[in-house]
Amino acid sequence: MIITKKKDFSKILEYLKGRDRVYLFGCNSCAEQCETGGEREVKAMAELLEKQGKKITGSSIPDETCYSMLIKKHFREDKNAIEKTDAFLVLACGAGVKAVADAAGDEKPAFPALDSLYLANVTRYGHFFEGCSLCGDCVLGETGGICPHTQCPKGLLNGPCGGMANGKCEVNMENDCAWILIYKRLKAQGRLGALKRIASPKDYSNGVKPRTVVVESRIKK
Ligand code: SF4
Ligand code: SF4
Repeated sequence: MIITKKKDFSKILEYLKGRDRVYLFGCNSCAEQCETGGEREVKAMAELLEKQGKKITGSSIPDETCYSMLIKKHFREDKNAIEKTDAFLVLACGAGVKAVADAAGDEKPAFPALDSLYLANVTRYGHFFEGCSLCGDCVLGETGGICPHTQCPKGLLNGPCGGMANGKCEVNMENDCAWILIYKRLKAQGRLGALKRIASPKDYSNGVKPRTVVVESRIKK
């Protein structure tokens, strides 16, 4: 899931300066779980904006705000409220903001109420861990499922570095060194041989942005 955090309210007011009729979007998926864009947060944002003299023309909390098709459909269904709107404020990740901005077109702006931080594993309810940076050239097969690109702050593909001490990372001593974790897991699996090879530089061409994927079997002929 995508982790988000709330922007400063002062930044949001700056975005909305001179735009008094605001339509709010939340997201019932990742932002709901982060408690940044669910029903409670959208309601709280509406109240805050109303106190600042803004009029809330409408609001919606789609199941997944990053679904551009769903957002376009919502724009058609709530046309009257949307016509009376000066700007959209989106309590979702950047992909959600983009979906709303694209549906709104060239005439009305959409602004982010959140900052998007990273792709996370949910390790416990309300606990999120960054374990993958979506590099497009996955090495987890060689590293026991622990990502050196993400869990090592230096992104070293051949580690550990000389700063490791007592199994801890020199960049943040509270964290275990990713390469010690990799070593321990590969040892437990009887795969230490994997560490004898020197990893080649990453193929960053797979990560050139923007990336698009078309799943042919999902296209209606
Ligand atoms: S190697 Fe790349 S794709 Fe694989 S987990 Fe790490 S960042 Fe993600
Ligand atoms: S101590 Fe380990 S995790 Fe930290 S920067 Fe060095 S190799 Fe990476």
